[in-house]
Amino acid sequence: MSDKYDVIVIGSGPAGYVAAIRAAQLGLKVACIEKWKGKDGKGVNGGTCLNVGCIPSKALLDSSHKFHEANSAFAGHGITTGDINIDVPSMIERKERIVKQMAGGVSGLFKANKVTSLFGTGKLLANRKVSYVNFEGKEQILDAENVILASGSIPVAIPVAPVDEDVIVDSTGALIFQEVPKRLGVIGAGVIGLELSSVWSRLGSKVVLLEAMDTFLAIMDQQIAKEAQKIYKKQHLDIRLGCRVTGTEVVVSKGAKEVVVTYTDKDGNEATETFDKLIVCVGRRPFTDGLLADDSGVKLDERGSIYANDLCSTSAPGVWAIGDVVRGPMLAHKGSEEGVMVAERIAGQKTVMNYDIIPNVIYTHPEIAAVGRTEEQIKADGEPYNVGTFPFMAIGRAVAADESDGMVKIIAHAETDRVLGAHIVGPCAPDLVQQVAIAMEFGSSAEDIGMTVFGHPTFSEAVKEAALAVNGHAIHMPNRKKRK
Ligand code: FAD
Ligand code: NAD
Repeated sequence: MSDKYDVIVIGSGPAGYVAAIRAAQLGLKVACIEKWKGKDGKGVNGGTCLNVGCIPSKALLDSSHKFHEANSAFAGHGITTGDINIDVPSMIERKERIVKQMAGGVSGLFKANKVTSLFGTGKLLANRKVSYVNFEGKEQILDAENVILASGSIPVAIPVAPVDEDVIVDSTGALIFQEVPKRLGVIGAGVIGLELSSVWSRLGSKVVLLEAMDTFLAIMDQQIAKEAQKIYKKQHLDIRLGCRVTGTEVVVSKGAKEVVVTYTDKDGNEATETFDKLIVCVGRRPFTDGLLADDSGVKLDERGSIYANDLCSTSAPGVWAIGDVVRGPMLAHKGSEEGVMVAERIAGQKTVMNYDIIPNVIYTHPEIAAVGRTEEQIKADGEPYNVGTFPFMAIGRAVAADESDGMVKIIAHAETDRVLGAHIVGPCAPDLVQQVAIAMEFGSSAEDIGMTVFGHPTFSEAVKEAALAVNGHAIHMPNRKKRK
């Protein structure tokens, strides 16, 4: 049996499902194949993001933040409560309800847009044919004018800490703990390490993060990373840099399993720590297992990503690849925008994507958010620049809300004043950075942002003041640079 589609998408994560919907909106006949199975054995759309990534992690971050606020911040507002307890299974159940609702939303959108949703495994064959094997094992060969590969990524595994889904887990296992681990170890102090440590530390875990690099958050602007590191220290996150894990052993002590981790610390000394749970989060890798037939014509690059150019064309004509499975940051919104671009190009439009302006957020409290280049990158590029910073402690709204940790940093070209980057640690950082992202899309200068009227009192006044500070004109703080 053969079926012909204008577009077949393999993978329904935020890259694939957005591509499928946009292509269908443009009048194309679209099918999307997804192999994710729910607990009930039925197919689920939404990929990593909705099922075990962005959405569930944020649900737990929000629950744990409320618990932490109730425990530590309410009293300062004159609010007294009785004993505060956390019912972990209820918190996890709430998260699962949210996941179900959001993943169901994708299926609803497929229906509304007439995308054919196929549950099972897709494999690209030669000449844009796709083998589709459903959950019962029945194969169908589908024909397509265009195939979009959006198979995503999976956690990187390290042999010294093999995941057993019990004591040693990856990010997925860390979203379903049924009780708060008293001692939590985390290998890798990157985005996932910091977000998941925050969840469990707020609920009472004593957390130790073992990070291989000597520099904390090396990809972020280092002034902001250092500011964040100070804040995390106050939150009792024990971040140990320059540590190489050399072994792990799961043992039973007093009837309970625990894991003994041996590592070499930053001075080269051997050390051990014992934890009730250990999360391994040392990065993610592109997932292409079983996706490509030998004669599909699609090439991988040296990192195992599907080779794709800036327009997401692969080495096979009519085959496109988007999201985590191709080069670039592994972020949901990056994949979604690629999905829109590819769908529109298939429909004959000339859409391009601006890879220079992709916001990046770490959802700790406060959050860290960035867009554009860091000061270190701009310096390395040899461009002249000015920096404006503004602390939240000088922002009335932040002081009123007890959210005065952190700062906004804006970097602009020294000659043109065009904004090159914004880096924020502090309240509402993701939403504030988005304001600068919009300004950057329109080629704005720091002066343009500084001249914009901002509502008062708002957290976003810190953006205006940092933009003014670029040229020495901040009002609510003495300026280091004095200019007329
Ligand atoms: P995925 O979401 O990985 O989807 C790929 C889909 O393809 C999967 O459903 C898979 O089952 C399916 N698939 C693979 N092969 C086949 C096949 N052969 N046949 C059929 N189906 C197939 N990003 C953010 O931007 N913000 C965040 O806050 C954020 N938080 C995160 C938190 C965690 C804990 C994790 C793990 C990730 C987080 N991410 C976040 C990253 C984000 O989840 C990914 O960047 C995003 O999901 C990638 O989208 P994608 O569509 O490329 O791939
Ligand atoms: P990451 O790259 O952010 O961090 C991994 C960390 O592990 C790095 O600091 C790295 O130096 C360290 N590391 C690597 N090998 C190690 C080892 N053997 N021992 C100790 N440390 C080691 O990766 P991640 O935190 O696993 O997240 C994966 C990706 O998922 C991210 O890069 C991001 O793209 C995406 N993500 C995004 C968000 C978000 O946008 N808020 C949240 C979660 C995940």
